[in-house]
Amino acid sequence: MSDDSTLHETQTAAEQHEFGAEVGRLLDLVVHSLYSEREIFLRELVANAADATDRRRFEALTRAELALPEDAAVRITPDQAAHTLTITDDGIGMSRDELIANLGTIARSGTRAFGQNLADAKPEDRPSLIGQFGVGFYAAFMVADRVEVVSRRAGDDQAWAWTSDGRGTYEIRPATRELPGTDIVLHIKSDAEEFLEPHRLEAIIRKWADHITLPVKLQRDGE
Ligand code: ADP
Ligand code: MG
Repeated sequence: MSDDSTLHETQTAAEQHEFGAEVGRLLDLVVHSLYSEREIFLRELVANAADATDRRRFEALTRAELALPEDAAVRITPDQAAHTLTITDDGIGMSRDELIANLGTIARSGTRAFGQNLADAKPEDRPSLIGQFGVGFYAAFMVADRVEVVSRRAGDDQAWAWTSDGRGTYEIRPATRELPGTDIVLHIKSDAEEFLEPHRLEAIIRKWADHITLPVKLQRDGE
């Protein structure tokens, strides 16, 4: 970080990666079979934020320097002008390798089982499957045509940005983030603008995130 030109070079160096084979299939299924249930994307992202916060709390038991900030929360910030919805947490964060492993491939049996069940189910039975399985991170692509994840692993200095339009590839580049944690920035599709409305978001949070013990805060535009 001493030399400005070096910093500039690393900041712009983006690497392109291809999704694992199963990701494309799952993405297709999720985006095309759950249209009427799109709002559950927020349940999935808030659940991930809460899981990540729990993991940091756990790791901090043996590494005090990872302790959570006192005001740890999941923050949901709609920006009507930018057409973005951002979900922020103070959780464990992800390193570059973790972004690739966790968001570029399907490593988890739950998500794979969900994909199989969804593929096999009759269309009318699909909504009920949502309750039984977590759809996971890729649910974000139901409402967003581009998703950017900016994350800094607790204990690391370097942050990373992961970006994808959900069409086969994603990009990774170095980024900056002041503190550990993760921002999920959803570039909201033009037919999904309802998910930028505070009242709509409040109702979804009440319905799906009520059991989360961590504060889930809906930020007002411009905050
Ligand atoms: P699951 O939550 O069932 O593992 P997801 O598709 O929801 O599956 O998420 C995939 C993985 O990505 C998670 O297991 C976790 O390792 C990582 N991940 C997702 N969101 C976050 C986040 N906000 N902070 C840290 N890691 C995350
Ligand atoms: Mg999840």
